Amino acid sequence: MSGHLSLSIFLDHASTTPLDPAVGAVMVEVLQGPLGIGNPSSSTHEYGRAAAAVIEQARVEIARLINADTQDLVFTSGATEADNLAVLGLARGRAHQGRHVVTARTEHKAVLDPCKQLEKRGWQVSWLEPARDGRITAESLAAALRDDTQLVSIMHANNETGVVQDIAALAAVCRERAVFLHCDAAQSAARLPIDVHALGIDLLSLSAHKMYGPKGVGALWVSPRARPWLEPLMWGGGHERGLRPGTLATHQIAGFGEAANRVRERRDHDAAHVEHLVAVFREALQGLKDIVWNDHPQFRLPGLVSISVLGVEGESLIAAMPGIAVSSGAACDSAVGEPSYVLRAQGVAPELAQSTLRISFGRFNSEVEAQQAAAILHSAVAELRDRDAPGPPAGEGWHMGMAGSLREGARIRAYLRTRPAPAGESAAEPAAASSIEALEFRAVTCPAVRAVLDELQRRCVGRPLADPAFGGPRDWAREFALPIEKLGRLLLVEDALRAAVAAALK
Ligand SMILES: *Cc1c(COP(=O)(O)O)cnc(C)c1O
Repeated sequence: MSGHLSLSIFLDHASTTPLDPAVGAVMVEVLQGPLGIGNPSSSTHEYGRAAAAVIEQARVEIARLINADTQDLVFTSGATEADNLAVLGLARGRAHQGRHVVTARTEHKAVLDPCKQLEKRGWQVSWLEPARDGRITAESLAAALRDDTQLVSIMHANNETGVVQDIAALAAVCRERAVFLHCDAAQSAARLPIDVHALGIDLLSLSAHKMYGPKGVGALWVSPRARPWLEPLMWGGGHERGLRPGTLATHQIAGFGEAANRVRERRDHDAAHVEHLVAVFREALQGLKDIVWNDHPQFRLPGLVSISVLGVEGESLIAAMPGIAVSSGAACDSAVGEPSYVLRAQGVAPELAQSTLRISFGRFNSEVEAQQAAAILHSAVAELRDRDAPGPPAGEGWHMGMAGSLREGARIRAYLRTRPAPAGESAAEPAAASSIEALEFRAVTCPAVRAVLDELQRRCVGRPLADPAFGGPRDWAREFALPIEKLGRLLLVEDALRAAVAAALK
């Protein structure tokens, strides 16, 4: 089942981490043995009590990782649910005190979307802009707080850029104004030390699968101060001190606990290891020109690099590197020319943001893999830049038309060469009677649009210049089953073609 996947190097640990084998072993034992039989809420028999003991053991390990008290942890299905519970639960519980919350534009969707829901229901939300380096300053937070502010939600480390916030400083601002602070620590928990008391925060979200544990389980830490104000989002049995009903997933939680245990033992070692891999990777990319590193030189998540590559299209770059599993900072197919909101909020120019890669190293990556990844990236960039190299020289019968720009996420150059009409047929306008001898493109665009270019290149040869019958964006979109979002890029293709034809007709 997994055989053919093992060929590419997994460098996407910010999206999820592979299960640590020691965690897997604990989970299998619970899942298949007697410990997994009982319902942890069944206190009338030993099966239930044994399952409850497994849960309590996991609670101890997770609490220890963040220096919390075990009774303040609420198990959830992951950090998304923990974020929702924190933001919606606290806002609802404090609604009669005031309806204003503060967050940052660079937060994870699991915080942004609940805040947008609050906005729709009459709350006011202040969306903080980070400084150029991605950090939220204490001053900007202080300026956003109002008398009716109930909650601030700021993440510890950003999932796209790895920028680490000064949570203790932000918490101090919140404390002074008696406002609750929630912190999403899904990215940082496996890589940076966290002490909820020292930070002075009120709520903290965790996810097991970002720390070499299983997917589908996480936790919200709730301070005793915030606890009375937190309203549950679901009802049905009073589990987790009334905050999150439902039978606890014993094997998942056992895995989460063991993952936390392993992180506690290995975190500093892991962090040094992945930072070493980053250094190896950077070093190997020394010769690559026109790239920008977006990750913070100082306040950074160990192991995460964010690189923008000038002059290439993001989706093509990912497609050109099947040997490495990395994440793009932009999705050309989610919306035309709308690259990562996190990078844009951080002031990264659109032409750079659209071609951004997030590479996140993990516990099981090796130095050789870091070198291989750099070599793969290097040659992919060289190849893509070559595809956009200026085409056949004008003057030798070639006519060029261009549309788009790197800023728009796509730039198309069409080169046409014509053949004069056979003697005798030549009319008053010889150019109009000629035919297309060759068509070539040089383009910065996504693979889907490139396929259209390849087909047009074949199809147009021999057509009369006066009636080339290229078709148009809507025809191409239909023929190639492209999503509507690609229409903008197809329009650029049409513009470039028309411009080339116009030049040839002159
Ligand atoms: C992954 C992640 C989440 C979502 O966690 P799940 O456990 O997958 O729901 C939330 N916030 C951040 C910052 C993340 O990186």
